[in-house]
Order: sequence, then C-alpha cells, then structure tokens
Amino acid sequence: SATGVIKCRAAVAWEPSKPLVMEEIEVAPPQAHEIRIKIVATGVCHTDLYHLFEGKHKDGFPCVLGHEGAGIVESVGSEVTKFNPGDKVIPLFISQCGQCRFCKSPKTNLCEKGWYDVMSESDTRFTCKGKKVLQFMGTSTFSEYTVVNEIAVAKIHPSAPLDKVCLLGCGVATGYGAALNTAKVEPGSTCAVFGLGAVGLAAVMGCKNAGAKRIIAIDINPTKYEKAKVFGATEFVNPKDHNKPISQVLHEMTNGGVDFSLECVGSVAVMRSALESCVKGWGVSVLVGWTDMDDFAARPIQLIAGRTWKGSLFGGFKSKDGVPKLVNEYLEKKVKLDEFVTHNMTLAQVNDAIQLMQTGDCIRSVLSVALQ
Ligand code: NAD
Ligand code: ZN
Repeated sequence: SATGVIKCRAAVAWEPSKPLVMEEIEVAPPQAHEIRIKIVATGVCHTDLYHLFEGKHKDGFPCVLGHEGAGIVESVGSEVTKFNPGDKVIPLFISQCGQCRFCKSPKTNLCEKGWYDVMSESDTRFTCKGKKVLQFMGTSTFSEYTVVNEIAVAKIHPSAPLDKVCLLGCGVATGYGAALNTAKVEPGSTCAVFGLGAVGLAAVMGCKNAGAKRIIAIDINPTKYEKAKVFGATEFVNPKDHNKPISQVLHEMTNGGVDFSLECVGSVAVMRSALESCVKGWGVSVLVGWTDMDDFAARPIQLIAGRTWKGSLFGGFKSKDGVPKLVNEYLEKKVKLDEFVTHNMTLAQVNDAIQLMQTGDCIRSVLSVALQ
C-alpha cells in the first residue's frame, strides 16, 4: 500500500509558450481508488504542444504535460483491488468507469466520470515550490511519478516494451481507431489521410489493415512520404505542388472523390478540404486533428449530397478495454509501433523533442523518464 510523499523530477510548464523547466516536485500518495505510477517512457504528442502554445485555456498552468506514457505501478490507494505494485500500465486521458450511460453504450468511448479537458487544483497530486501544479489531461507523463484514478489506467501485458507501447496511450490508438472504429474503412475502398504525423500514419495503418485498396497520403512536408509508404500509403500528394484546391486534385485522381478521408492536422481549413475530397453519395470524413479555436465551415450541399462528417476522440476505443488489446496486437505483430519512433531521448531533453515536432523533423520522440 501507499507510502509517503515522493519527491521526483518533472518537466513543469509554468506558463504558456515558455520552455518546460525540470523541477523537483512532490507527488502525494494515491487516495482511494487511485494508483501511483512510475513513468518509464513517454511520447510527445501535438496535443501537448497545442496546450502549451495555442490552447485558449491560459488558466491551465502551471501544469505537467504529457499524456502518451507507460509505466509501472508503484503503490495503490485504498479500495484498489485490480492493480498491484509492479504491474505494467498505461495511463489514459479518457476514463472508462464502466458505470455511466456513456460507458454502458457501445456507441461511444466517452465517460461521464472523467474528461480529458478538466484540470482542477483539487484533482492534482502534484506540488512544486509550495504551489499546486495541474495534471494535464489527468495524466502528466512528463514526470517520474504520477497519480491517476483507476478508471483511467489500463493494465497491460507484462512483457510489453514500455518505450514502444507508450504510443498506444494516445497517437497511435487515435489514428488507428479513427480509421477502423470511426470511419469504418471498408475493404477495397479509396482513402485519403491528411497530415502524416504519428496520428496520420496510424490512420494510414488502420486503412491498410481494414483492406483499403488506395491510400492517398497528403502532407505539406514531403519528408513524411517515405514513412507513409512503410505504413501502407499507395500515393502521395503535396498540396504545395498544386495551384488548385486539394479536393479538386483528389476528385481528379479518384474519378469523383474518395470513400473515406481523415483529417489528422488540426486545421479547420484542412477539415473542410478533407470533407470536400469525399465522393458524394457515401463519402465519410473524420476529424481527428485537435483544435477548438475557430469554427469550421462547409457548404450544406456537401452533406445534403450524402457525405457524412464526424469526429473521433482517442480513435473511438473504450480506453481500459481497448488499450490492453492494442498492446497484444503489437506483441502479435498486427500493429506496428517501432516504426513511429524516430528519436529516443531523456525527459530532460523534452524541450528539444518539442522543437523537433514544431519543425516537422520527427514522427515520435520517445523520452525515457524513470529508470525501470
Ligand atoms: P504532428 O505535428 O506530428 O503531425 C501533423 C502533420 O500535419 C505534420 O506532418 C504536418 O506537416 C502536417 N500538416 C500541417 N499542415 C498541413 C496541411 N495544410 N495539409 C497537410 N498536412 C499538413 O502531430 P500529431 O501528433 O500526429 O497530431 C496530429 C493532430 O491530431 C494534432 O492536431 C493533435 O492535437 C491531434 N490529436 C487528436 C487526438 C484525438 O483524440 N482526436 C489525439 C491525439 C492527437
Ligand atoms: Zn495526444
């Protein structure tokens, strides 16, 4: 059971748009139904950058970012019966309480009990220099230790390599599930994926595993095409090479539009292009990229003519059920993870990893956090 307060290292985001600072923080013992986790590895996702640089929640500071990690249970609070110290786990930014009306419905992976966007001082177990430090997305994997409610922790296979399966805590599960669970890509279909970061490449992998015949990969950074080929992309389009709308280019390439499109950039303009790239009658376009700053727009005829526009959070996976299965699929070599990792660094190098993502020079940087 839980011992006392742990002092450990964490990368603290004191204020928006500033570099993270390595600090010693205090991590409180887990309370009832909570689990204290030693984080072994974490990926850096664009949503961390979004909160740091773009999000409008300027009150969400100071905080510890990171929501794509994996680790080992250090101790458990009272009432926790399904986890033990030493278990390998992935913290989840969407909970699955199993009790609420969302958890009871097969139609959604949302959960009423926890919500990725709520960060309150009473919910954090972190303090630094006498100040409460918020836990971004309830997870905070840029810390050697974190505390998460058991409804937002997945126990995974004991032989899972944590420096790879951490990517199933966000990016890879998100893109892969968006293709399989949300778009429901069909065998023989033609797909378009906009944005070839880890999320988009995982969407490409989902389209391929669903049996898509053509997978058109779109990015303004042509250095991403080589990787997209590895995951199953069959064609590549750089919007910068064309002086007409990208949707028109895709209509011409596909005799009227693609069956499925996935937006993995986080731009309302690209969301519109992705919708307009779909074929009328049955085309489905999925929003995966993250933004909550601007309204999106499209002409109503796009939907009246039979297209469907939908969104996907965490790939539509019910988190506690889905993540351990994805880990097993990786161990069975049905899902790729190693190919997403372009850089291995330490937590102290987190600002370099953030910069690599800003300049588009990485797919995923995986940071080693605490020693195993
Ligand atoms: P990333 O920065 O690694 O990748 C984004 C890619 O988009 C880059 O390769 C970039 O060159 C490309 N791009 C930029 N502008 C473009 C344009 N106009 N047309 C085509 N490509 C363009 O980011 P990531 O970590 O892969 O995340 C992608 C998006 O998914 C982000 O918005 C992130 O916040 C979001 N996200 C959503 C969820 C969810 O649950 N819905 C979860 C995780 C991440
Ligand atoms: Zn993420």
